[in-house]
Amino acid sequence: MNGEVMHGHTAAHEGGTFIANGLADGFPVAFADGFQVGIGARDDAPCVETDDPTPSLFAMVAFWVRYLASTIALPVFVGSWIEDGVTFIEPSVRVMSRDAAVAIGDAFKEACLWDWAASRCLWLDCADCRRGECSDPHDDDGGGES
Ligand SMILES: [Zn+2]
Repeated sequence: MNGEVMHGHTAAHEGGTFIANGLADGFPVAFADGFQVGIGARDDAPCVETDDPTPSLFAMVAFWVRYLASTIALPVFVGSWIEDGVTFIEPSVRVMSRDAAVAIGDAFKEACLWDWAASRCLWLDCADCRRGECSDPHDDDGGGES
């Protein structure tokens, strides 16, 4: 489990998506298409919120995600992001359909999902984002439209 790599990448890039099994365990990934959706609200999912992230904390979440992945018929990853100095680490799944991604995001009350092709967040409280037709960058750090 490569907690050092996840910890370092998150600090350098304010977040990341990481492989949670196999030879590349713990290494960051990026995709040309599909959507990444957090599932930290699942009862059996590890979701960490801390102002003191450590490599061992990342490794702990990744270890848990390996077991979670055996119960989900989708590719499961470790996702991280930093917001207002707080680091969040949670499992995420990758799906190819935006409709499926939105449905999963709604089910787990996620604020946004990641659109790999557009390289941006889609905010679930924005109707245009949900349709994949939003031109608002939503870079106000507050999420969706007011
Ligand atoms: Zn939007």
